[in-house]
Amino acid sequence: MSQTITRFAPSPTGYIHVGNLRTALMNYLIARKAGGTFILRIDDTDPERSKEEYVDGIKQDLTWLGLHWDRVERQSERLDRYHAAADELREKGRFYEAFETPTELDLKRKKQLNMGKPPVYDRAALNLSDAEKDALRAERGAGVWRFKLDQQRIEWSDGILGDISIDAASVSDPVLIRGDGQILYTLASVVDDTDMGVTHVVRGSDHVTNTATQIQIMQALEHDHPSFAHHSLLTGPQGEALSKRLGVLALRDLREQGIEPFALLSLMARLGSSDTVDLRTDMAELIDGFDIDSFGAAPTKFDVKDLFPLTGRYLQTRSLEDVQPQINDLGVPADQAAQFWSVTRENIETLHDLGPWWAMFRDGAEPVIDAEDKEFVAQAMAMLPEMPFDENTWGTWTASVKEATGRKGRGLFRPLRLALTGQEHGPEMAAVMPLLQVVKARG
Ligand code: GLU
Repeated sequence: MSQTITRFAPSPTGYIHVGNLRTALMNYLIARKAGGTFILRIDDTDPERSKEEYVDGIKQDLTWLGLHWDRVERQSERLDRYHAAADELREKGRFYEAFETPTELDLKRKKQLNMGKPPVYDRAALNLSDAEKDALRAERGAGVWRFKLDQQRIEWSDGILGDISIDAASVSDPVLIRGDGQILYTLASVVDDTDMGVTHVVRGSDHVTNTATQIQIMQALEHDHPSFAHHSLLTGPQGEALSKRLGVLALRDLREQGIEPFALLSLMARLGSSDTVDLRTDMAELIDGFDIDSFGAAPTKFDVKDLFPLTGRYLQTRSLEDVQPQINDLGVPADQAAQFWSVTRENIETLHDLGPWWAMFRDGAEPVIDAEDKEFVAQAMAMLPEMPFDENTWGTWTASVKEATGRKGRGLFRPLRLALTGQEHGPEMAAVMPLLQVVKARG
């Protein structure tokens, strides 16, 4: 059996979002699980829409996630290969030039729909004589090049969708080269997948029809086709189309919001499969547990909110060393960093939450004091020792307050926590005390 080769093939016309992250991740995990090769292929045959900043952005995002590629290929550097394949298709009589304008095509489609027929290109261009083509070329410029599909059923066994059978007669002959000479994705992808020996292609189910035509193009070029698997598309939590909200779901935005890579990876590697989503903190575990067969065809609901508790749980597993840079940035003194991290790490969702915690310790919290506790708190504050506090301060202090006031349990501890931190709940007060630099409640 040949070595497993997969590829992630983004068009650099935007940044990676949660939808295409799923594609990247599945291809990555398949390659790594098989000890194979993972190619990052930049689909940049569209010079107007492709931007270098997106190429860089895509690489940054994959690097942030730890999805390392073995090599990069760029379609813009392989145009001669695509032209060679186009020549071969011409020689084989599977490629023809067509001259309809977009308006004409639109009109044809409307007519077909009105007659209750599927809007499939009618192949009128196949009947043009050479003289007619010359005349059209002189009038309208070069035509588009369409691949002539064999009108029979195209079948494959899909890694996720199962057995697929598509009637090629219900599909328009795909345009592979535009009138301005631009090579289109369908042709480029076929040539690349063949030249690069790609063995498995996982992509979104919006590509199913492309796959059917690509299989025929590969057959026309006398090549085997890779195995295909089409994952379902992500929807929002209510089943709504995700595309409307893609703006907020770009990986870089999630990163800005403090989402950790392993939260994203853990969710996206299992969402839509029969395996449960659980936090994984290392790539090897994600790779080992990945099984494409466990994914189903139904649309997959995605809720960005799920990433926050996973991020929180991931952070709980981090050592001080892992977060030292962020803690240093806040200006936490070196001798308090360990205490600060041990107190906060179970009380944050993202590292952004550290800022407010440190501000509270450094500047003191606005005390919250219920009217009926006013006197009690004043009395307790008068008994609070001088700074700096240590790990024993809370125990000793509350013991003497208890003795002096007769209060105990919740009635004792709750007002004191509220007065010192302004919060009803939070980390162990014994551990909080050494971090407090200011006690506003002391007046
Ligand atoms: N550039 C294509 C896309 O982003 C690649 C599809 C494929 O995986 O073949 O949709």
